[in-house]
Amino acid sequence: MDINSFNLKEINLSILKLNKVSFYLSISISLFCVIVFIIMAFMFLDLNGEEIFKFSIFSFLSILIFSYIFLFYRFESLVIIRLNEIYKKLLPTSSSYEIKKPSDIDLFTNNLKKINSDKNLEIEMLKNQENYRKEFIGNIAHELKTPLFTIQGYILTLLDGGVTDKEIIKKYLKRTSKGVERLTYVVKDLDLITKFESGMANLELKTFDIVFTIKNVFEQLEMRAKKNNITLKINDEYFEPIYVYADEERIQQVITNLIINSLKYGVDRGVTEVSIDSLKKGKILIRISDNGEGIEQKHLPRLFERFYRVEKTRNRTLGGSGLGLSIVKHIIDAHNEKIFVESQTNIGSEFSFTLPKGDKTQLIQE
Ligand code: ADP
Repeated sequence: MDINSFNLKEINLSILKLNKVSFYLSISISLFCVIVFIIMAFMFLDLNGEEIFKFSIFSFLSILIFSYIFLFYRFESLVIIRLNEIYKKLLPTSSSYEIKKPSDIDLFTNNLKKINSDKNLEIEMLKNQENYRKEFIGNIAHELKTPLFTIQGYILTLLDGGVTDKEIIKKYLKRTSKGVERLTYVVKDLDLITKFESGMANLELKTFDIVFTIKNVFEQLEMRAKKNNITLKINDEYFEPIYVYADEERIQQVITNLIINSLKYGVDRGVTEVSIDSLKKGKILIRISDNGEGIEQKHLPRLFERFYRVEKTRNRTLGGSGLGLSIVKHIIDAHNEKIFVESQTNIGSEFSFTLPKGDKTQLIQE
């Protein structure tokens, strides 16, 4: 059976589906005609009762059938015209689609359902974005409020003139300065995230030795690690440089943020170890593991979100902005590389990320 014959059959069959409006209208028309005929027959025609009855039945049925068929198709074409108008109003850009026959109505219904579900999805997305935006603004306000109130408090106390002890004045000024410092790094972190999210952060890709970068970060964080009584270790003696192709400054920031976290959430006399593995397909995997307090599994999927903290109160005392991991993720994403996290409470955490291997010959050309 070819498609056309199938459609024809469909059109013919569609008449069997009773169209109530057409049917009732046809009955009214037929009844009206028969009544008029009966009146006329009595007044002007010389017919007996039986003849009038037979003729009335015959004309009633024939008028009913013809008027029903006529009305049915008129009604349907009217519906089709209206549906096409609705369709054009809903989708003014899609001029190619038009309902031509009753079987197209099913397609139209499906298209409408699709438009409806697309619109619902769009509304859902806009709602999520709106919630995300509200949450983000709330988080920024909250993050800035704490140091601002600290600064304001100390400045007002000092302005009051009640404190004359030089040592106390110095202590208050130091605390004010710490508040300013905190404000500065929250703003800097936010600025960096915004740059990454708007695609304005450019990467300066080049070949460099990742072992050198890791050792550099170790040197910078040596004092802090000592203060927290945590040992910084590289898993192996790397006598040869290991080249990667990435933005050196940004990758140094990634390693710094991850090591700082391992110090913040590490344990007394803990160990933070960095290791470098060579993977297939020209990739290097850098792993930063600690034996600190760890993170519960339920937090892992949201860990890289802006301002996400495992415990709302726990980390604020440690001075984090809740943006460190978000920055790390943005930097690795911008390199089109992957970052992973594995963690177990009271055992430790491991953050790892991939980087493309660098070409030594390129290093000489640079
Ligand atoms: P913060 O500035 O609060 O440290 P981050 O974005 O760097 O924010 O980290 C998000 C949260 O992830 C932290 O608040 C902390 O609870 C958890 N976290 C990150 N790194 C570690 C780690 N090495 N060990 C345990 N928890 C960690």
